[in-house]
Amino acid sequence: MALGHVLIDSPALFLIAELPSILREVFGYDAFRGPQADIIAHVHAGGDALVLMPTGGGKSLCYQIPAIARQRAGHGTTLVISPLIALMHDQVGALHEAGVEAAFLNSTLSHEEASAVEKRLLKGELTLLYAAPERVTTPRFLALLDAMFERGSLSLFAIDEAHCVSQWGHDFRPEYRAVTVLHQRYPGVPRVALTATADALTRADIVERLQLEDAQQFVSSFDRPNIRYTIVEKKDALTQLMRFIEREHTGEAGIVYCQSRKKVEDVADKLVQAGVSALPYHAGLDPEVRQRHQDRFLREDGLVMVATIAFGMGIDKPDVRFVAHLDMPKNIEGYYQETGRAGRDGQDANAWMAYGLQDVVNQRRMIDESPADDTFKQVMRGKLDALLSLAESTDCRRVRLLAYFDERYAGPSGLHTFCGNCDNCLQPPALWDGTEAARKLLSCIYRIQQMSGLSFGAGHVMDILRGKVTDKVTQHGHATLSTFGIASDLSETQLRGVLRQLIALGALSVDEFSTLQLTASSRAVLKGEVQINLRLSVSQPADKRARNLRSTDKATHPELDAAAQTRLSALKAWRAEVAREHNLPAYVIFHDATLAAIASQAPRNLEDLQGISGIGLKKLEAYGRDVLRVVGSASVTD
Ligand code: ADP
Ligand code: ZN
Repeated sequence: MALGHVLIDSPALFLIAELPSILREVFGYDAFRGPQADIIAHVHAGGDALVLMPTGGGKSLCYQIPAIARQRAGHGTTLVISPLIALMHDQVGALHEAGVEAAFLNSTLSHEEASAVEKRLLKGELTLLYAAPERVTTPRFLALLDAMFERGSLSLFAIDEAHCVSQWGHDFRPEYRAVTVLHQRYPGVPRVALTATADALTRADIVERLQLEDAQQFVSSFDRPNIRYTIVEKKDALTQLMRFIEREHTGEAGIVYCQSRKKVEDVADKLVQAGVSALPYHAGLDPEVRQRHQDRFLREDGLVMVATIAFGMGIDKPDVRFVAHLDMPKNIEGYYQETGRAGRDGQDANAWMAYGLQDVVNQRRMIDESPADDTFKQVMRGKLDALLSLAESTDCRRVRLLAYFDERYAGPSGLHTFCGNCDNCLQPPALWDGTEAARKLLSCIYRIQQMSGLSFGAGHVMDILRGKVTDKVTQHGHATLSTFGIASDLSETQLRGVLRQLIALGALSVDEFSTLQLTASSRAVLKGEVQINLRLSVSQPADKRARNLRSTDKATHPELDAAAQTRLSALKAWRAEVAREHNLPAYVIFHDATLAAIASQAPRNLEDLQGISGIGLKKLEAYGRDVLRVVGSASVTD
């Protein structure tokens, strides 16, 4: 089918050689990254595609460059369907900065503004139009598309965040289902669907829902080598978080995820009291406040956003240096998507999570109490278990994460079996053999059940195991159990570790009343057939590559000499001013890496400047002289 499109669309083929020059001239980049070249050529030629690429991989160019090339070849406008209304303004702003005609249609526009965009669209002035799925399928919008289709000026559909179409994804949006209308109504218009996270189940669902059976699939490695994964046992989560920020991220931008609105408010307050510039973000805040906080996070340097998962879908701020989870997400897709917001610029970043027994219990309960049907719950439980076993694992986190997405980690050499950039690789945890302890725990639960016909929660079971005579123990006569005090040599922390591990293994389940139940898998553990290795909890993981506190450019770009540092600071001040004038985030004007390169090379003329990555023709023309002036005067005062 894809080939069929290629033949039908042959005018575009003649311009395939243009693609690298669009990359160079419009975006200022020298080379395509990874599979970009193949994807762009395929989409450009009119083929359908499903693109799975990790966050920061460069998905946008996969439809933006074909959109530009196809527009030049007379195919008209590309429609980008995106659920991220809040970001459309910045995305379109970034395209304008690069000299590309783009606009968005969403609920933030007034009636007049929307009509003006529609007019430009019909006149064929737009290369890209961004719209939310619920708008795309309105009669008014479809009438617009009909008109464009009739005159052959509907070039391409780009369906961003395509996992939203699937209920197995972590961000299901029913409106996405209706997007299928497009390809039925406008046959022959190529489609490219893109997502950063999709396990096999979700991927199959996307294909089915969007009817992309004939589309070529481009699956990139999901590895994010610059992100370091760390999962710690939760003790005093807030103190642990503060220590982490202080030790590794002073003055840097980050996101802290919490489950409840109240906790978000609380943690943000505490961080502010501790001198960290932090802002809260959750769906319960006044929309205006929420918008202001998001804008500040995107536009200012070094803010920490404390948020529920309502925040962040598609936040394309490239210099988020850490993502911290104070509560465990629902599944690995969610975890990977959220942590993926760190380090889009490819520089070092941290993904840090504190988790404990309570997280496991809460997540289980949310699934059990949800109104969904049993099949759905079963899938969700399976997904939660996978996340739990990641958290409990004592081997390389990256290997496990990638395995979850059906990818075998091979590292840069192609032969690696571990990554060297996760907590378990950097400091292999000491293990203790918990097999015996696990058997004791399960048989204790069995005995209690036998004696009382009741199930109890973790606290009571641990009291019995450790031989503590509490009121509850007395009341139920549990001191007479043969298992009373059989694990008095173990600490509560150790027992909690055993409990979590058993839950992760599915050898123990927690019901909606937080009581522990044996499962079908308990027997093998009871019989000693399952070896249980546990992490010996360490009070404070030493970070071998702990970075110094850094709030200056010198720390961020240690490779620059003093004169270059001065230039970089001047360039950043200039960029902040331009960004403010244009009402856009600073990185849309120039990335940090581009400014650092300018500071280091100290270009004297436009020609020198043009060779630097991230400076396309439009930016050269718009800012070249100013940049040279800033570089010149910073060098003089040096
Ligand atoms: P994604 O949507 O996949 O998360 P983006 O499209 O936002 O990723 O790209 C991530 C960053 O990488 C952006 O800042 C983008 O400008 C940059 N980028 C993309 N492709 C290239 C390339 N070929 N060369 C250099 N930088 C690139
Ligand atoms: Zn590792």
